[in-house]
Amino acid sequence: MIKYKCEKCNNIECETSICPVCGERAYISSSEIYWCSECNIPNYEKTCACCGNEGNYIGTDIRPVFPEERLLIEVLLDKPFEFAEKSVWNTSGNNYYVNGKKIKFSIKDIIAKNGYKDVIKKIKDNSEKNKVYLEKFKEDEYISRFIESNKIRHNYIVNEASKYIKNISEKYSDDAMFVSFSGGKDSTVTSDLVMKSLGKENIIHIYGDTTLEYPTTGVYLERFRKEHSKTPMLIAKNKEQDFNELCKVIGPPSRMMRWCCTIFKTGAITRKIETTFKNKTNVLTFQGIRRNESTARSKYDRESNNSKISKQYAVSPIIDWTEFDIWLYILTNNIDFNDAYRLGFSRVGCWCCPNNSSWSEYLASIYMEEEYERFKNILIDFAKEIGKGDPEEYVSSGGWKARQGGNGLEYSENAVLEFKPCALIENTINFELTKNIEEDLYELFKPFGEINNVIGNSRLNEIYVLSRGTHEPLLKLTGRLGQKNLKVTVVNFKGPFKDMKTAEMLIKNQITKYQICIGCLACESHCKFNALKITDIGVGQKIKYKIDENKCVGCLECVKHFSGGCFMKKVLRTKIGEQKRWKAK
Ligand code: SF4
Ligand code: SF4
Ligand code: SF4
Ligand SMILES: [Zn+2]
Ligand SMILES: [Zn+2]
Repeated sequence: MIKYKCEKCNNIECETSICPVCGERAYISSSEIYWCSECNIPNYEKTCACCGNEGNYIGTDIRPVFPEERLLIEVLLDKPFEFAEKSVWNTSGNNYYVNGKKIKFSIKDIIAKNGYKDVIKKIKDNSEKNKVYLEKFKEDEYISRFIESNKIRHNYIVNEASKYIKNISEKYSDDAMFVSFSGGKDSTVTSDLVMKSLGKENIIHIYGDTTLEYPTTGVYLERFRKEHSKTPMLIAKNKEQDFNELCKVIGPPSRMMRWCCTIFKTGAITRKIETTFKNKTNVLTFQGIRRNESTARSKYDRESNNSKISKQYAVSPIIDWTEFDIWLYILTNNIDFNDAYRLGFSRVGCWCCPNNSSWSEYLASIYMEEEYERFKNILIDFAKEIGKGDPEEYVSSGGWKARQGGNGLEYSENAVLEFKPCALIENTINFELTKNIEEDLYELFKPFGEINNVIGNSRLNEIYVLSRGTHEPLLKLTGRLGQKNLKVTVVNFKGPFKDMKTAEMLIKNQITKYQICIGCLACESHCKFNALKITDIGVGQKIKYKIDENKCVGCLECVKHFSGGCFMKKVLRTKIGEQKRWKAK
């Protein structure tokens, strides 16, 4: 049972996370799941609705353990089928319960003791016999009793969410809303709730395929499409970039530098939303975000305006649901879900994410041996390239996940700007670029104003940037095409260039982009005016960074959003680079 209290109203108890008195957010004062030892099931209420017995507290949340995961646990404990006829649940991490009793299980020890190759073999040896239990589970007596006993809770959360969905969508037409679909259990439930509450199947779904998804997710997506043939399922996928190739150039992602989220998630989804709803001014997005997923998410609002896509209004109908609620819904309504949960993955996302738990990683090694080994080899090659003494150890101990900056990577050289103030001309900086000057360079100066190649001395290849309104010259760029020396003079301290310090920062940011842009799409995602497009991204192609001067309003969001001008700057920052820059000053 979940209890809420409102801090503002003298800690009065509330039924939901919204205080009925003041309307503010109420905090969770307790979350308890009880075990009925008579029925062998977890309950939301202390008193079991099936038998009337009083249950005992078992955890703050709970999920069912399916026969596939059950067999894995048994194999790891060297007791195949010991729990096959029993009621098996997990309250979190190490905490497995069999018939309400916690079993001794330490993920850390298990991983240390059991090499994944051995485990794969043992699971194979036992999987034929396990088929009987997979079949049986469909009519499992404990699951039926769990559903029966928690009917009131189920009906309560479903009614609440349905009412919410109906109300919020009233102002939107069908073609101005979509479900953000990841193939995980939360978005599966959200999708089902939305379509049932609105009584129609033709609600657009956008699936973000990061290219790093579990294979079970693709399989589930296909099943979903077949089952919901009237539901438009649009795929947001960055087909131009290749994760493995990028890992070689800029290093694998780490906890601090999750560049793949920008490239494969945000960038791809933003583009999809822009093209799908280009004629709409307001779009409603249903998300499957739950506060109890993580501490960071506990602070989320049920409704929010997307900071990046101004027309997107995102809502989470299941924001207050627990994992217990999610499974209660899935099992009660007998809806299909991603098989990864049957295997024991508690979250479905990218299988190689540096944020994954060691247990998820272990499961990936067992269930996706080939991909796992390929990625491991990439990590080992990377460790060798950056000169790690013991590459195997660097990878197995998870050292790569803690990586910060691009030390040892050749491409990082481009993140370093070499410049000095010009000794002869006032308000001028001389740059020594890492790549030759080409026409593309001027594109990056469009946010500051109009590019003019007429008024300058063409013999010296002088290019001016003029103020948008008054056409006064603001900047002068001097540098021959095909060469690396570039002189930038601030001609007028107007518009974006308040003073030399600001001008220097803005100019450096754009030159950094010229040197290191790998087309991560972050700049494009941050332009609210649809003026910025990045094309020709694929491996071996020359990335094109294009700004449409008719659409650009000079808001400078693309210039200033990331410190140093480019999202990749942080990823590629190096110690040597810092020293070099220092010397240049
Ligand atoms: S691997 Fe992790 S950081 Fe990379 S896209 Fe997936 S979730 Fe984001
Ligand atoms: S300039 Fe940097 S942040 Fe912008 S798209 Fe290129 S790599 Fe991404
Ligand atoms: S973010 Fe602003 S400055 Fe940059 S391209 Fe878009 S409109 Fe222009
Ligand atoms: Zn209140
Ligand atoms: Zn009972």
